[in-house]
Amino acid sequence: FAPWTNPEAKPLIRFENVTKHFGSHTAVDNLSLSIYEREFFVLLGPSGCGKTTLLRMLGGFEQPTSGRVLLDGQDLSGVPPYRRPVNMMFQSYALFPHMTVEKNIAFGLKQEGMPKDKIAERVASMLKLVKLEKYAARKPHQLSGGQRQRVALARALAKRPRVLLLDEPLGALDKKLREETQFELMDLQQELGLTFVIVTHDQDEAMTMADRIAVMDAGKVLQVATPAEIYEAPNSRFVAEFIGSINIFDGEIVEKKGGTARFRDKSGSEFLVSLGANPQVNGSGSLAVRPEKMTITRQRPADAVNAIEGEVWDIAYLGDLTLYNLKLDDGRIIKISMMNSRRTVEDVLTWYDRAWVSFAPDAGVILTR
Ligand code: ATP
Repeated sequence: FAPWTNPEAKPLIRFENVTKHFGSHTAVDNLSLSIYEREFFVLLGPSGCGKTTLLRMLGGFEQPTSGRVLLDGQDLSGVPPYRRPVNMMFQSYALFPHMTVEKNIAFGLKQEGMPKDKIAERVASMLKLVKLEKYAARKPHQLSGGQRQRVALARALAKRPRVLLLDEPLGALDKKLREETQFELMDLQQELGLTFVIVTHDQDEAMTMADRIAVMDAGKVLQVATPAEIYEAPNSRFVAEFIGSINIFDGEIVEKKGGTARFRDKSGSEFLVSLGANPQVNGSGSLAVRPEKMTITRQRPADAVNAIEGEVWDIAYLGDLTLYNLKLDDGRIIKISMMNSRRTVEDVLTWYDRAWVSFAPDAGVILTR
């Protein structure tokens, strides 16, 4: 499933040069983006980057200041929310407190004028879908957070929209329930064959659920790609630092030879870096290396291409992994993550031990923006 790799494929949703101003503030800045049918699409970014505003323009709750939002090639300008084949589940769930679960789910269908027997049928199938058959007669305050989330989901799905918009759908749940519910949402999306567009600021959640992620900052999309591409080949320092943990060395390329660069950081350390798919980079930039692409050892490995010495500063044992902070002589901290199952006895280090961090030329990327 990768329609975005097919130049012939037509997107279901298209934002075309969309800008949204609130007074003098630009919430969304000349943004273009395509989303495909049946895609699980995640808008990810820090608070205030404009992701909710983008979602609300797709739902019809906000109008773009300029630019167009298209669905199936049709301009949605002026189409009110209830006439769009799109439904939104709000962060607060917005359930009616005085209504039972059943009535909450039926509400939109009733408003639409659906016959009573059809409503009953639809509500029953929705209750089954979200596994709340036994809770039909309860009111929201008699439910757990996870159950309320499922009622909101059932209500949003009851009208059978083509596109479901979810604003921080799991924000109110605790960590364990959140992780379970992520998989439930993925299963549900597969089962129903719908297009999901989700807003979150939680990178793990985005990585878990998304077919593709759009990383946003200050009203702009910085990168749209699969979770693996975003993690392995971030296109900018912002994306690299926003997703997962990473070490950044600021410096410059001092020489390039046959697909490899010699990179000198500000402290004068030099590293050999494979340029991979990005052979044209030049000049000053940041070398970005993930902690798990680095190795920490007591002795400098004989075959190490890139190695720096320092002092073990922090150790955190996490069961599957051990995280180390190595303090370099200039005070900088390097983060290293080692799989415990791959660690040898000699490598077991303690605080203040002198140690070496090393990494291969293809372990990192040079980012110039
Ligand atoms: P969060 O994760 O905190 O919800 P977000 O990325 O979803 O953030 P938006 O809600 O889209 O961000 O808001 C983007 C910017 O636009 C913010 O600076 C916000 O203060 C501003 N904004 C949003 N709605 C309005 C409004 N109705 N009036 C004025 N400013 C607004």
